[in-house]
Amino acid sequence: MKPELAVEPLESWIQTDGKPLIIAGPCSAETEEQLCETARQLKELGAVHVIRAGVWKPRTRPGSFEGMGKAALPWIQRAKAETGLPFAVEVATPEHIELALKYGVDILWVGARTTVNPFNVQEIADALRGVDVPVLVKNPVNPDLALWVGAFERIAGAGITRMAAIHRGFSTGETSKYRNVPMWQMAIELKDMFPQLPIIGDPSHMAGKRAYLQELAQMAMDLNYDGLIVESHIDPDKAWSDAAQQLTPAAFGEMLDHLQIRQVESQNLEFQGAMEQIRAKIDNIDRQLIEVLAARMAQVEKLAEYKRDNNVTVFQPDRWKEVHETRAKLGKKMGLYPELVEEIYKIIHMESIRKQTEVMNSNIQNA
Ligand code: PEP
Ligand code: MN
Repeated sequence: MKPELAVEPLESWIQTDGKPLIIAGPCSAETEEQLCETARQLKELGAVHVIRAGVWKPRTRPGSFEGMGKAALPWIQRAKAETGLPFAVEVATPEHIELALKYGVDILWVGARTTVNPFNVQEIADALRGVDVPVLVKNPVNPDLALWVGAFERIAGAGITRMAAIHRGFSTGETSKYRNVPMWQMAIELKDMFPQLPIIGDPSHMAGKRAYLQELAQMAMDLNYDGLIVESHIDPDKAWSDAAQQLTPAAFGEMLDHLQIRQVESQNLEFQGAMEQIRAKIDNIDRQLIEVLAARMAQVEKLAEYKRDNNVTVFQPDRWKEVHETRAKLGKKMGLYPELVEEIYKIIHMESIRKQTEVMNSNIQNA
C-alpha cells in the first residue's frame, strides 16, 4: 500500500511569490548582537523568507558548543520584531517545543540526529498534538529512507499538516569531498512517495565547506527543490559551530544572484517535440540496457553451475578486482563519471553473488 500524508502546499503557509523558499541564518544563535545583526543583514538582501538559528545544538561529541538554550529565545523575539521575518529553530525534545512556541518561534525543525531515533521522534510528535505549527524534518544522518518516512508519518499522526523535508545529505562512511554525501536519489524517492511534500535543500550541511555551496544549491534547484536552507553568519570564521560552511549575508546574497532558477516546463512546441524524440530514444536504450543485463546474468548462472560442479567458491577476489578495474577504466575512457561505473558494478556484483549462491544451493536441495 502506498503511504499517504496529508500535507498542505507550501504556498498556503508561506508567501514566496512563486520563488523558491529561502531560509537562512546562523548555525547557532551565539550572542544577541550576532543574531540580530545577521538577521538584519539577511533581511536587507530582500530574498530571505525565514531566518534559521540553532538554539539547542546536538553535537556528536561532548565538549563542543551545545547552543545557548533558553537564553537565546528573547534574542529571537527581538530579531523577529526588528526584521518582521519568521524564525525557524531545531527542536529535539518536548521541552524545546514548549519553550520555542512560548517565545514565538514560527517554524520548528527536527534535526538529522533526532530523525534517526523513532523514540525521540514519537516524543516530539506527542508534544505536537494539538499544536498548529509548521514542522520541517531533516533526513536521518544515515541513508535510511524508512526512518525519514517514519518521522513524517509520526508527525502527521499528531495532526501536523504543514510539513516539509530538509535534505542535508548522509553520513555513509565513504570518503567524499562533501561532509555529508547528498545521495540525491534518496530525496527523489521520498518525493516519489509523497509528491505533495515540499523538499528544501540544505547545501551547508552537505558541503561542510563554503566552496561547495554554490554547486550544491544549484543542483537542488535543478532537481526542482522547493527551497534552500543555508547557514549564514556575520563573521563565519569566528562562528562557534560549523564555521567552515557558513557564509556572510553578503556572500550569501551573491550566491543567490548566481543561482539559475529554471522552469519545470516549457510551452515551446519545438522544445516539446525535441524532448519527445529524445525521450523515445532513451526508452529504447534503456530497453537494450536491461536486455544486456539479463544476458549477462544468464552467463553468470552458467558460470555458477561450473563452479558448483567443480566445487569452487562463488567469490574469487582476483577476478572481481579485475572486473572492477577494467570496467571503471573503460567507463572513464568513454567519458562516464568514474564513480557511476564503479557503483553500477558494485550492484551488478552483489546480484551476481546472490544469483550464484542460489545456483549452488539449488544443487544441495536437488541432491
Ligand atoms: C543544523 O542545522 O545546524 C544542524 C545541526 O543540522 P543537522 O541536523 O543537519 O546536522
Ligand atoms: Mn550547522
